Amino acid sequence: MARVVYVNDIYVPEEEAKISIFDRGFLFADGVYEVTAVLDRKLVDFEEHISRLERSLTELDMTMTKSKDELLKIHRELVKKNNLSEGAIYLQVTRGSADRDFAFPKDVPQSMILFTQERPLTSVKPGIRVISVPDIRWGRRDIKTIQLLAPSMAKMIAVREGKDDSWMVEDGYVTEGTSNNAYIVTKESKIITRNLSNSILHGITRASVLRLASELGMEIEERPFTIAEAQEATEAFITSATTFVCPVVEIDGVAISTGKSGPVVHRLNEVYIEESRKAAI
Ligand code: PMP
Repeated sequence: MARVVYVNDIYVPEEEAKISIFDRGFLFADGVYEVTAVLDRKLVDFEEHISRLERSLTELDMTMTKSKDELLKIHRELVKKNNLSEGAIYLQVTRGSADRDFAFPKDVPQSMILFTQERPLTSVKPGIRVISVPDIRWGRRDIKTIQLLAPSMAKMIAVREGKDDSWMVEDGYVTEGTSNNAYIVTKESKIITRNLSNSILHGITRASVLRLASELGMEIEERPFTIAEAQEATEAFITSATTFVCPVVEIDGVAISTGKSGPVVHRLNEVYIEESRKAAI
């Protein structure tokens, strides 16, 4: 069955969805996006995703044209129309369609599209193998823009080597995964993850998982770490709205501890799923 998608205020089967060739998303990657997980037909961390959307828009001199409630309604409608019980909803907003010019157009309506993706989110994850690559992205990675070619290329370097993903490295330190935040766990069971700045996306799952880890009494240190330090760690993992807490079992060909998923990652994923099921709306 074809998906029903949302394009500028209407719901249509995906093959009928249309956007102008002059859309600035297409010409300049001039837009932002959000991805919200759907668990048991409900939205996970929805408020937080929409707050980040608003921040991304503001940083690019765009306004939020729909309220949180209106966006919630659209998300729920797509869950219903696509009978989605587990997966994700993508929301993309661009500056709209105008004749090609680097300067931002004035008084042009934004384009907004949403679509669903069915995916398993709660199945047991055996762990991924990552490689390190240089981070060649721009300097405002805190804005969730739709310009995803650099991470897409980084992912392909991993795929061509038969691995699952890349951890991007800048000035000797890991920034993040291609579409996820990166963490290690030290011998003392301390969780290390890069501090927030313009160098990384401020992951919504990151915020929730760190809050839960702290509630569980785990120690957290927010600072950059190197690939060498990660290879010596007892566990490593990533977080994102579509992976939740996912173990990393190998970095640049070196197995992390036993090369199998460890207890801290397992516990964090379990608690994140449990809490998300309770708090989803
Ligand atoms: N970093 C990058 C570069 C990402 O693309 C993503 C996923 N969109 C994340 C981190 C994780 O963010 P979130 O937990 O909000 O999905």
